[in-house]
Amino acid sequence: MNETECKYDLLLKDGHVIDPSNNIDKSMDVAIRGNKIAQVAEDISSSQARKIINVSGLYVTPGLIDIHVHLCGYAGWLFPDFHSFSNGVTTVVDAGGPGWKSFEEFKKSIIDTSKTRVLTLLNIVGAGMLGAVEQDVSEMEPIPAAEMIKKYPKDIVGAKTAHFMGSGWEAVDGAVRAAEMSGTIAMADFRPMPTRSYKDLLLSHLRPGDIHTHMYAQHIPLLNEQGVVNDYVWKARERGIIFDVGHGVGSFWWRVAVPAMKQGFVPDSISTDRHKASALIPNASMMITMSKFLNMGMPLPEVILRSTVNPARIIRRPELGTLSVGADADVAVIELLKGDFGFVDSGHAKMCGTQKLQASLTIRNGEIVWDLNGLSWPDWETAGQYTVINQ
Ligand SMILES: [Zn+2]
Repeated sequence: MNETECKYDLLLKDGHVIDPSNNIDKSMDVAIRGNKIAQVAEDISSSQARKIINVSGLYVTPGLIDIHVHLCGYAGWLFPDFHSFSNGVTTVVDAGGPGWKSFEEFKKSIIDTSKTRVLTLLNIVGAGMLGAVEQDVSEMEPIPAAEMIKKYPKDIVGAKTAHFMGSGWEAVDGAVRAAEMSGTIAMADFRPMPTRSYKDLLLSHLRPGDIHTHMYAQHIPLLNEQGVVNDYVWKARERGIIFDVGHGVGSFWWRVAVPAMKQGFVPDSISTDRHKASALIPNASMMITMSKFLNMGMPLPEVILRSTVNPARIIRRPELGTLSVGADADVAVIELLKGDFGFVDSGHAKMCGTQKLQASLTIRNGEIVWDLNGLSWPDWETAGQYTVINQ
């Protein structure tokens, strides 16, 4: 068949598809045309595709969505493409790097220059995540923040508050107000104080659909003194508060996560809080953070659910995190390694495990952007007089 007759540009053949948005968990083929998912079916003929990649023995999932990363600000930013694709991630949300004063520069320098889809939770602090200024309540202005969110609905998904050490509720309430005025969501990184409790955050200040990130941090009283998940935390989940992992350098502790998981208090979304420091010792990558949940007993389809369709719905982008026909062709091909592995938490203690996820191949907008083992390329000895072999 000559190339012009090909129905599909790319065919992922014989993989095990896990697409929780469509309740798929079985061996399927995935075909891509241009930058869209064109077909997902049990047997798509190889003759219909210009390029075929055999992905047998591997899992094929929607491109992963990490709703808590840092691409700018003093926390030590990391440009997304260098770590997103090697972790199967095709969409990231910068959690409060820029504020309304710095967003447009952030858009120009990071969003518009990345292949990764970059979305933003706008910091309620106008100057953004820049250290001392984050404590200045006069910088927390919901009106200009909401206006900026409304001006860039394609790029900004809500408001963020972080790192506030003051005694009042200005930061949380400001972010919620900006979200309210812009019809979006708020994400809170919160440190309880004698004057403002975690219970009040969850039951009185956040709205249903708003997110508490860093749920397994040591400074978060998820568990009571007996190690039991607090009643008000369950109540908050019932009222629709979203609980996000936000691993980071200081926010994932086995002694909080393991008992909570055993009691069924699982995250709604798995995210990394990846920045320069969390990328090192705790290795807060998406593959490692997801592997931690796998080793705590969460079944793989549940891990994928919380890394694809759940975060898409939480940030109100239901068109993402899915392999539905017509969706943008963002795909992760993942290998499940078996062996002896160690997974380090924020206190630098490890948990031993036998399973580890590894991103083999990542497709963003129909383009192969990561291919760990050269699955999509020919052997050099049979490739002929090649220069650079294109997709
Ligand atoms: Zn963070």
